[in-house]
Amino acid sequence: MISPAATPMEPVIGRFAPTPSGRLHLGNIFCALLAWASAKSMGGKIILRIEDLDLERSPRAYADQLEADLQWLGLSFDEGGSAGGPCQPYYQSERFSIYRSLFHQLEETAEVYPCFCSRASLHAASAPHLSDGRILYPGTCRGLSPETIQEKRRVRPPADRIRVPDETISFTDGVQGRTSARLPLDCGDFVLRRADGVYAYQLAVVADDGLMGVNQVVRGRDLLESTPVQIWLFQKLGFSVPQFFHIPLLLDPEGNRLSKRDKSLDLTALKQNFLPEEIIGLLAFLAGQIPKWEGMTPGELMGIFQWDRVPMKDIRLPKKIYG
Ligand code: GLU
Repeated sequence: MISPAATPMEPVIGRFAPTPSGRLHLGNIFCALLAWASAKSMGGKIILRIEDLDLERSPRAYADQLEADLQWLGLSFDEGGSAGGPCQPYYQSERFSIYRSLFHQLEETAEVYPCFCSRASLHAASAPHLSDGRILYPGTCRGLSPETIQEKRRVRPPADRIRVPDETISFTDGVQGRTSARLPLDCGDFVLRRADGVYAYQLAVVADDGLMGVNQVVRGRDLLESTPVQIWLFQKLGFSVPQFFHIPLLLDPEGNRLSKRDKSLDLTALKQNFLPEEIIGLLAFLAGQIPKWEGMTPGELMGIFQWDRVPMKDIRLPKKIYG
């Protein structure tokens, strides 16, 4: 199945959808900046959506700090965050009733089943691994009898999974190019609601992008593997499919992925050593938009931003960024 790209005549609605589980780091800022510059350079608008599904990991204080940091960087949003807007609330933790109704809709139109498998039991069953390290769910709990389900429920609460059909999803990513996945082999049945009752990322993100009218999704290349099931869900729920841009990840000078635990490139450290324009300029340079690292404002980047200059491959940071 081919996913339709957003038509060029439609006004662009982009979004930055961070999970505030700590201080913003350079990789998050790279994503925020490119999402912002892309939507703005096309005359569109940009939404800030706080993906705090797990309030324990993402307390409101982190979200507030994140908004203050974005403001310090000069990135202002048309809707969302604490400012609200026509699609409020913009905090996923406040949108559970929306996810619940879409979950019920899926129960009517697809095969949604309780799954009692723990991560450990899947590992022990040596379920096959996907290229990104995730486990391909082997279908263990598909087709359990009502009696077995009742028995198992007494021992532990289940997650809820949705069965994917034998379909191939193909789409053209604005950075990574043509991508294709056969749902049962490359993605597998996925969780819609966790055992603790929290709705899963795949459902929440599609519900929100769909209901907020988002037609341009800019995010890290690490989420490319989630996109085929999301496209399938967009279609299943009757939403139009956005255009996707999966941007390269930032690596440290040795080529390792930046980790949230590494505090050396979070905004606390960056603010001590750099001005906002220097950070924006560095990221614009790494995104191939300017020939050398020099100070720049988001507004200046908006005036020159072009997707065809953004590299596909992950990007090593220069050593001099480490204060
Ligand atoms: N909340 C996710 C993250 O911070 C991003 C989700 C998305 O952009 O689709 O990794």
